[in-house]
Amino acid sequence: MTLPPHISLPGKKRVAGPDRSPVYAMVGNPNCGKTTLFNALTGLRQKVGNYPGVTIEKKIGEAFSQHGRPMKVIDLPGAYSLAARSPDEAVLRDVLLGRRTDTPQPDRIICVVDASNLERNLYLAHQILDLGRPVIVVLNMMDVAHAAGHRIDPKKLEESLGVPVIPCEAIRGKGLVELRLAMSRAELPLARHRWDVPAPIAPAVADLQASLVQNDNRPPLVARAEALLLLTDFDTVRVAGSTPLSDRTHEILAHWRQRWEGEGTDWSATLIRSRYDAINRLCADVIRRTGAQGPSLSDRIDAALVHSLWGWLFFGAVMATLFFSIFTLAEYPMNWIDAHMAALSSWVKGAMSAGDLRDLLTDGVIAGVGGIVVFLPQILILFFFVGLLESTGYMARAAFLMDRPMSKVGLHGKSFIPLLGSYACAIPGIMATRTIENAKDRLVTILVAPLMSCSARLPVYLLMIATLLPSTAVPTTTKAAIMLLMYALGTLGAFGFAWLFKRTLFQSAPPLMIMELPPYQRPHLREILRQMIERGWLFLKNAGTIILGISIVLWFLTAYPKNPDPAATPDAKIAYSLAGRAGKILEPAIKPLGFDWRIGIGLVTSFAAREVFVSSTAVVFNVQHFAGGKRAEVTPLRAALRAATWPDGAALFTPLVCFTLMVYYVFAMQCMSTVAIVKRETNSWRWPLFQIAYMTGTAWILCFILYQTGRALGF
Ligand code: GDP
Ligand code: MG
Repeated sequence: MTLPPHISLPGKKRVAGPDRSPVYAMVGNPNCGKTTLFNALTGLRQKVGNYPGVTIEKKIGEAFSQHGRPMKVIDLPGAYSLAARSPDEAVLRDVLLGRRTDTPQPDRIICVVDASNLERNLYLAHQILDLGRPVIVVLNMMDVAHAAGHRIDPKKLEESLGVPVIPCEAIRGKGLVELRLAMSRAELPLARHRWDVPAPIAPAVADLQASLVQNDNRPPLVARAEALLLLTDFDTVRVAGSTPLSDRTHEILAHWRQRWEGEGTDWSATLIRSRYDAINRLCADVIRRTGAQGPSLSDRIDAALVHSLWGWLFFGAVMATLFFSIFTLAEYPMNWIDAHMAALSSWVKGAMSAGDLRDLLTDGVIAGVGGIVVFLPQILILFFFVGLLESTGYMARAAFLMDRPMSKVGLHGKSFIPLLGSYACAIPGIMATRTIENAKDRLVTILVAPLMSCSARLPVYLLMIATLLPSTAVPTTTKAAIMLLMYALGTLGAFGFAWLFKRTLFQSAPPLMIMELPPYQRPHLREILRQMIERGWLFLKNAGTIILGISIVLWFLTAYPKNPDPAATPDAKIAYSLAGRAGKILEPAIKPLGFDWRIGIGLVTSFAAREVFVSSTAVVFNVQHFAGGKRAEVTPLRAALRAATWPDGAALFTPLVCFTLMVYYVFAMQCMSTVAIVKRETNSWRWPLFQIAYMTGTAWILCFILYQTGRALGF
């Protein structure tokens, strides 16, 4: 047996070799603070949040030991045990068992346990100790344990397990030095702790272990752990994952199972129970609980916040506050940006001589990019709120509340976390479906996730609401209510389609809800601000790349070929251009919805990213005004839209059209990146294509009904 040079067996002296930096895997239950610790060690900024299922893919980072030696650290998704059920848990198992070719094999394991929940957390830790690799146990959340009245003795735990145990508070960086020191140790002891595999099962473990090494090429280190997994889980194929078992191993397994069935031994339960017994003995030894524990503060808060009436009222109030502040708080910075964009544009106009380049800069670049950057303050406010909800742990409560309505449509609350995430962006939302065990439920969740209104649609809604309700006399509450209505419409749509799909395409029993409600925490302001700035930066980067690019291309398409008639009206000029001609071809398809060809250009270009609709309309509609050469400054886009008319002079953006357009954006599949991610996550083109068809089809039909009835009623 060959070991990496820096790993030592007990009793043998070995010094870490200089040839390769050691690889650490960070493992533990969901929400125990792995990513916080990973970020602290590596200086990276992976997303953390106070609810399970935040990390769904492995992430590799570089850290330095206390002596400055480089080390690799892998952050892994959380799991309660190695018996993986969902795709994200399988990542953990496969990395630990050395089955992933794309990931370096971890030499050492940092097992993070939530000290305030030791019994449950030790189950995975116990399985990890079986892996035969050096392990460092991090007792994280010592502050929470302390507040709950648990006095834990790390020294005693260390003695019982035989591996280093380091008390930490990852969020405050406490214990990091000690952890780095432990990681720097040239040799780490292997777990002394061996639990007694119950007598009827022990010989089978030995048999299987030997066969796995001989017949299945398993590294000896992990063979015992895999043997134990095979003897816990009824589903052999699931345990084997991407590395199917040899016939010989299957035979041995079948032989033992048959024998136990004859004897009436429930092997799986026996094994699990004896592990729990060992853990309970251990905990009795190391935890002292002080004082009589009444219900904790979190439990008392939850009595109200997940209450079937108060909980919903609170949820509604939170959402209403969110949208209200998006409108009120953002006003001043938005006016400021608007004014500066206008100033910039007129400065360029004054400084440059008339010509195509000047028009490109003002009508293409400044109009397009400026049109979208205006929405930055509102995007930031949205993400500040989302961060606040994530950091306090309220997100998990929202998912819990949603469990009832979700189960009505055949999904469980766990599916709601990806859907909640989709309010920010469908891409992380769709990736978060990896926490869902049932493949059919996962697919249904993926299919409906883009119906949740993402932050990229925020600018579109905002622009439409501003056009719809121009007067500043209209109370902010009305605007916020319209916004809330759009979000509610998308959410209802997601539920409706989930119900439909579960009834038709993907019939399976509604799953049982097991969801953990992490204790409430004081929000970590720095972390929230960091995530908010990161999202804001991403938004700006998009504005500076995709949106800039599209605005420039679009400007050319609207400017060329030039109408040979020098006296042509702005309308005639743009109608003569390439974009105008293409838009006219599209117009018959969208005219029944009340949209003209210029809106059509926005619809088509926004397939690159939904917010492009705003910059595209900015280019298309401003071009017309500037093309006349009379205007000296940028009109805020809303005014330009309000002035736009059909050829017969009728207003284009009537309130009904604004409303219809918003509904279109609630339902239509308008985002290339989402299509790509659905293709990746479902591994076929079938589902993304289906999604485009059903979503855009629904959008068209709903808008048709809305617009035509609205017109018939005289709006
Ligand atoms: P992961 O799911 O294991 O990756 O956990 P995260 O790193 O995402 O952290 C989960 C939550 O626990 C976040 O809200 C963290 O801010 C918080 N957290 C992490 N470590 C500590 C700690 O030592 N004490 C307290 N009170 N909170 C912590
Ligand atoms: Mg994590």
